[in-house]
Amino acid sequence: MTPILSNNYYVNFQEEGYKKLNSFVASYKPSIIFVLVDENTNENCLPNLMQLLECETTIEIIEIESGEENKNLETCSGVWHALTELGADRKSLLINLGGGVITDLGGFVASCFKRGIAFINIPTTLLSMVDASVGGKTGVDLGVLKNQIGLFSDPEMVLIDTAYLETITERELRSGLAEIIKYGISYDAKLWDEIKAYNDLTIKNITKLIHRSIEIKNEVVTEDPKEAGLRKILNFGHTLGHAIESYFLETESKEKLTHGEAIVIGMITETFISQKLLNFPESKLIEIKEVLLKIYGKVTIETTDYQPILDLLIHDKKNVGGKVNFVLLSDFEKFKLDCKVEKELLIAALDFYNK
Ligand code: NAD
Repeated sequence: MTPILSNNYYVNFQEEGYKKLNSFVASYKPSIIFVLVDENTNENCLPNLMQLLECETTIEIIEIESGEENKNLETCSGVWHALTELGADRKSLLINLGGGVITDLGGFVASCFKRGIAFINIPTTLLSMVDASVGGKTGVDLGVLKNQIGLFSDPEMVLIDTAYLETITERELRSGLAEIIKYGISYDAKLWDEIKAYNDLTIKNITKLIHRSIEIKNEVVTEDPKEAGLRKILNFGHTLGHAIESYFLETESKEKLTHGEAIVIGMITETFISQKLLNFPESKLIEIKEVLLKIYGKVTIETTDYQPILDLLIHDKKNVGGKVNFVLLSDFEKFKLDCKVEKELLIAALDFYNK
């Protein structure tokens, strides 16, 4: 698969990617290579990387505990201490081998350590391949505030190897697929057509979708690196989606949703709102709902859940000046940023999902 050029770095794929990785290491000559993993990527992904990484350089492994709850400054501090104790200097290289937690945290750790050392992202979940590892956003959470601390900083390269997906759960795979679907609906109708043509999504047939998704994310973030405008389309489905995700996370009686499962509800409801406000074609709205419910099933949202979800929506950190901003669509690929939506329509959208 063709490499994708981002801001001064390449996203490289499969076997060719390892060749690029090895030649980068040969020319950069890092003093020590550190590989950041969590317990799952240590077990499932590191053996493969160690086999394919050809170099004489000392390699040190730093393991952190998996999970969003560990994406914080305390974990960073642990990694900075480990780097220091293991003799890292400004010529060291950090390879982030893991999902979005590892690439977000590792990118941040590398960018601050001794005012910045080189890092490479090797994403190992579908979500981190198509979203988190590309675009230069690095950072960690501060208490419950997601990604509150961080900076824009680019890796030396990103390496995509879909073989890593073999050990993630099917539910996690479907969660990442939601972001691919988002790119299809909001940015590339041909991609949407491909998605809906698959009856059975396997790692093999998903590889092409991954490449196209990264191209799209890259196009968007290179045009708007600091989220001044266009980059906001990446939030399609995420406004209501995030509120629903948080609500299910906070409510004891509810089963936690994956990020993707919540975003799917966000995409169905926000397409409904788009139909009402921007005349998004009704037949396509029905098609989106049908395809998504077939893949993800229906989540029960009671009418008593509506108000707390709407309360969370108002407190979303992406709001500016207390206003909830939506990305809406007048058709596939035709988006409008910063749309305001009345409460009655939000309720109607949740009713539409439930119908
Ligand atoms: P994650 O990193 O928590 O990984 C999910 C789980 O899968 C973890 O338990 C992990 O240990 C395990 N895992 C990872 N790879 C595996 C493999 N190959 N085999 C077996 N287990 C494996 O979650 P995620 O969904 O990859 O990423 C979510 C994070 O990404 C969030 O923190 C989010 O904020 C961030 N994110 C960042 C951006 C960005 O632009 N920087 C974009 C989207 C999401």
